[in-house]
Amino acid sequence: MTRPNISFEFFPPKSLAASFRLWDTVQALAPLAPGFVSVTYGAGGTTRQLTHEAVTTIGKSTGLNVAAHLTCVDASRDETLEIAQTYAAAGVKEIVALRGDTPGAGVFEARPDGFGSSVELIEGLTQAGDFNIRVGAYPEAHPESTDMAQNIAWLKRKFEAGATSAITQFFFEPETFFRFRDACQAAGIDGDRIIPGVLPIENWKGTRKFAERCGTSIPADIAQAYDNAARDDCHDLLALAQCSELCSDLLDGGVNDLHFYTLNTPDLTRDCCRALGIEPELKLEKVA
Ligand code: FAD
Repeated sequence: MTRPNISFEFFPPKSLAASFRLWDTVQALAPLAPGFVSVTYGAGGTTRQLTHEAVTTIGKSTGLNVAAHLTCVDASRDETLEIAQTYAAAGVKEIVALRGDTPGAGVFEARPDGFGSSVELIEGLTQAGDFNIRVGAYPEAHPESTDMAQNIAWLKRKFEAGATSAITQFFFEPETFFRFRDACQAAGIDGDRIIPGVLPIENWKGTRKFAERCGTSIPADIAQAYDNAARDDCHDLLALAQCSELCSDLLDGGVNDLHFYTLNTPDLTRDCCRALGIEPELKLEKVA
């Protein structure tokens, strides 16, 4: 089997302890030679600055290709494009372009002078610079979409606006991804451009809550297995087996790319890659 393309998502650290954790994670995972790594973006000035610092520092110190997440939330068009320009000036060529959610509001509230949707943001970015634009995709439909057809029609508009690939929300069963990829292909989207987002489960309770919030369905047998594993103190063993099996099934089904939501902890992601035969390839000379 050819080596799959892998990528890792991190979030920006908000404390000194969190910075150390991020650096440990980057150092542990970078040798696996990801095609890109990405850093999430939050609403609010401080978090934005943290994303910028994490993106530029990871890029400079490791030489990895870093994608900066960017949303339309609570900023004017000019402010958003200015952030993109500072990335371009720092040599960052990849943006994960998202609409985002307005904090506290429960829904996205567009600012009159801001981008009103992910499609508008993508259009703005394509005019502003030469970015490789990735977007989000929802194999179980986004909670705000009326149905799967509308969910996919909107994704298609994002590709038509200039996106080159879409990273999916996490899911538990490979069939969920395959059904979605097939439906995207039937709608005229190249299935190879849909990258499955894989969440190695470090914390079952947190994952449950997050799945509920974002509409990811949890198969009853998996929920039962995690409950049993907590009781028997063998969570990590189950998490590695479950994540590796999911990835292995995806690769068997023709997937070439895997995007891991690392949550800034390296062990499960690294062990899962190794279980798939993905060995370290890079020496991180640049990291102090
Ligand atoms: P879109 O795909 O633009 O919209 C979601 C759905 O809403 C669509 O499927 C469509 O059905 C419907 N819709 C939206 N607008 C329209 C419209 N104008 N007309 C018709 N239908 C419409 N959030 C953050 O805050 N920071 C991050 O860094 C971040 N990273 C993410 C990374 C990935 C890979 C994913 C999948 C999500 C991420 N999110 C992040 C969460 C994301 O911001 C939320 O899921 C948000 O609700 C949707 O953003 P989007 O760009 O994916 O939405």
